[in-house]
Amino acid sequence: MPLYIEDRLRWIREMRQKSPCKRCGLLYNHHIKAKCPDCGTLDSHELRELLAQKEVIIGDLRRMGWIFAALALGCTLLFFW
Ligand SMILES: [Zn+2]
Repeated sequence: MPLYIEDRLRWIREMRQKSPCKRCGLLYNHHIKAKCPDCGTLDSHELRELLAQKEVIIGDLRRMGWIFAALALGCTLLFFW
């Protein structure tokens, strides 16, 4: 089996074992790590900063999704016009 397919399958297996952290909502493997690697060492102020950064990243990804959808729609309309 090609290496990239094995890597992909390993990544899918690891993602299935992860579940969202109750504190920050980011995914981690509860079976391997007792504390969340993203928020386990943060106090409440640092946790608020982490959650604010997460919201900014989600907003940016949402905007990029809309831009790509608009570009795809524009290209489709140009092609079939
Ligand atoms: Zn967490």
